[in-house]
Amino acid sequence: MDFAEIPKPKPAQMAVRPNLVGYERLRRSFQWEDLYKELDWLPGGSLNMAHECIDRHANGQRRDQAALLWEGRNGEQEQYTFDQLKEESNRFANVLKGLGIKKGDRVFLFLERIPELYIALFGVLKVGAIAGPLFSAFGPDPVRDRLNNSGTVLLVTSPDLRRRIAQVLPQTPALKHIIVVNKSGRDSQPLVGGDLSYEGLMRQASPQFEIERTTMYDYSVMHYTSGTTGAPKGAVHRHQAIVQQYATGKWVLDLHPTDLYWCTADPGWVTGTSYGMFAPWSNGVTQLIYEGGFSPSRWYELIQRYKVTVWYSAPTAIRMLMKAGKELPGRYDLSSLRHINSVGEPLNPEAVVWGMKVFKQAIHDNWWQTETGAILIANYPWMPVRPGSMGRPIPGIQAGILDDDYNELPPGKDGHLAIRPGWPSMFHAYWQAPERYNSRFLKGWYITGDRARVDADGYFWFVGRTDDVINTAGHLVGPFEVESALIEHPAVAEAGVIGIPDPIAMEVVKAFVALKDGYQPTEELRRDISRFVRQKLAAAVAPREIEFIATMPKTRSGKIMRRLLKARELGLPEGDTSTLEED
Ligand code: AMP
Repeated sequence: MDFAEIPKPKPAQMAVRPNLVGYERLRRSFQWEDLYKELDWLPGGSLNMAHECIDRHANGQRRDQAALLWEGRNGEQEQYTFDQLKEESNRFANVLKGLGIKKGDRVFLFLERIPELYIALFGVLKVGAIAGPLFSAFGPDPVRDRLNNSGTVLLVTSPDLRRRIAQVLPQTPALKHIIVVNKSGRDSQPLVGGDLSYEGLMRQASPQFEIERTTMYDYSVMHYTSGTTGAPKGAVHRHQAIVQQYATGKWVLDLHPTDLYWCTADPGWVTGTSYGMFAPWSNGVTQLIYEGGFSPSRWYELIQRYKVTVWYSAPTAIRMLMKAGKELPGRYDLSSLRHINSVGEPLNPEAVVWGMKVFKQAIHDNWWQTETGAILIANYPWMPVRPGSMGRPIPGIQAGILDDDYNELPPGKDGHLAIRPGWPSMFHAYWQAPERYNSRFLKGWYITGDRARVDADGYFWFVGRTDDVINTAGHLVGPFEVESALIEHPAVAEAGVIGIPDPIAMEVVKAFVALKDGYQPTEELRRDISRFVRQKLAAAVAPREIEFIATMPKTRSGKIMRRLLKARELGLPEGDTSTLEED
């Protein structure tokens, strides 16, 4: 079914004049340097994201404006002005400095979405260290692997999460300090021997701090992302990324000073930092941070109570809202919402149409990835929306569709989605993996790993991924990480992991398992393996289904043929099986 284009709104229908009006004109004349003057900078040409997001506002007219409105999972509420965030992050920067943390050190954050996560992250940036936020849903193995790969020296966590990973902490030799945040005194026994108390350290710390004079090329944040082979890799970003996060906050999210913005993403995922911290705060906008998880009625209620105006969420959440029915939103006053955005997976055209009915406006899909650091392709408030399309490249970005020899294809043809390198928020390394980094650049393009096509008017349409990475509810899952966890179970000889289609989460993880001799494929064993992996990884990443098979299809060189597992699972043609190992 074809979905009709949704025309751009009439000026009278718009609550505010959009920031980006002349897209074509701006694209033609735009240079990134044009935006540099909109940043504040530090003396001597230094650039630090914490200054651009927090201190510049605290030192200016927004000093007493709320930066962060927090709603805890138990209904607790807190509010921080830009000035308070400045002081708190200064205190944390002093804490870090007192512990000997210096420029370039890795400091990881394993916390729920509480204000202290945000304060700590900006404190890390202020000392010039590299911040690595981790998903609070992670089990011990992913945390250990990421701490070790990055050589993290200091971890900030909470009593609960610390207990969850206690067994692997002795296996993290570089880690020198653990700071434990006992939010609102929630835990009666927060500290284990050797741990430091966040609250205790912060009480002693000065609220004055001179920000490290980082340059735009110094590293700021790293996020781990999954690939087809090998362990997840740490994509490293630089302070310079703030230029583009600021710009896309303006053009795509259309942030205005009067907005109340809500991004539902966790900072363990790049959307939760780039658009849950850097874009809104570099634009001086107040944002809501909700610690709790997904709940349709709760979410609608939050939009109503906080009068959210701009909302950034993900297709899985939107599909779950659709599933909860049309009645439910009718019970809330959602009229404050003026601009809705989505990222992470393809947004079904049906969802865009549903948005028109329920919210009286289009949901604006946009595309980017951990490596790109900021939005690259988007639908804008002041442009017709083609339901199912990711939109058009932002000013300053040249995107192309390439054939298998990496030559550009004309409109209408499917191929590799690629970007001309050099945009400000482009990742600068995979941590200590230069070959993997270099392999992403070919013939003058950055190869995204996605397939897409572009239409004659320059709108991009997502087709799929070129690799085996699974996208479940917007989380990229590398099959290798799940397979590695599975084969640690004593009964498992081999494991192959694929994504299978799911109406809500887009894909869910399915594992095929071959057992060691002497083990029987019983229901009890299946449950045991499932429990084992969930405990090691995270519920979202662990296989939803486990199927026992007698032998694993492999290439002659011993690689598991996930493509074949998938074809068999979905009843698709098996394709070329010439490299399949015969029994
Ligand atoms: P991540 O690096 O975890 O943010 O995941 C990035 C990947 O998510 C992309 O390479 C795509 O495969 C997928 N993705 C992100 N946004 C979209 C979108 N708007 N439409 C389709 N896929 C998307």
